[in-house]
Amino acid sequence: MSRIPLIAGNWKMYKTGPEAIETATQLVRLCTDVQDMDIMIAPTMLSLPLVAQSVQASNIKLGSQNLYFEKEGAFTGEVSAAMIKAAGAQYAIIGHSERRQFFGDTDALVNKKIRAALSCGLKPILCIGETEEQRDAGKTFLILDKQVSDGLKGVVLDELTDLVLAYEPVWAIGTGKTADTLQVDEVHQYLRSLLENLFSKTFADSVRILYGGSVKPANVADLMGIKDVDGALVGGASLDADTFFNIINYNS
Ligand code: PEP
Repeated sequence: MSRIPLIAGNWKMYKTGPEAIETATQLVRLCTDVQDMDIMIAPTMLSLPLVAQSVQASNIKLGSQNLYFEKEGAFTGEVSAAMIKAAGAQYAIIGHSERRQFFGDTDALVNKKIRAALSCGLKPILCIGETEEQRDAGKTFLILDKQVSDGLKGVVLDELTDLVLAYEPVWAIGTGKTADTLQVDEVHQYLRSLLENLFSKTFADSVRILYGGSVKPANVADLMGIKDVDGALVGGASLDADTFFNIINYNS
């Protein structure tokens, strides 16, 4: 089954509104001729509507870095899935390890956020990954199994067509360490078979599984050459338009 690759940029808590507009505008120009690939950028919530204008009518899609699962209400400081969608986003990154580590996003909370995204027609990018300690203790598959099963608990197959999975080993995020191709290959194959066991083979074959963790122009081609890698979630290297474009354009 052919899966269109997705290269997604997570801008984290970087860039003011004008800075986000500038980078997005550069990216639109650089990516004009890119075909057969989905490109997404996730600026801060504050910049979403601004960047939506910059990427309008281009081949660059927009995503949020998080969302809150309630529809609306007295939840000071939070932003709902519907608000994100109305601001122009199509994707929502959910369960990023920085959310899990610094903001208490548990698998149960991640599950509520996934459901909220799906109910609004946002494509969720469910982030999963083990810490270095968990890998050293031989618990990688156990952890991934729980993050996927709990994150998707109670969600039925029909609702899941737009799911994207992002394998991001915590020890590789923002550290400059990249998982080697054998490690990535092993985990991505495992995740596809896990999705098959949880749902169906047809579904598992259709889901895009991204790799994330210190992806840069120098390593992207090797990572994208792995059979079950369908794209990348890029943090630091997505902040500069030229560098991010060199990742997107890895094949040329
Ligand atoms: C990320 O933020 O999802 C990420 C993978 O970051 P980096 O590319 O900087 O490791």
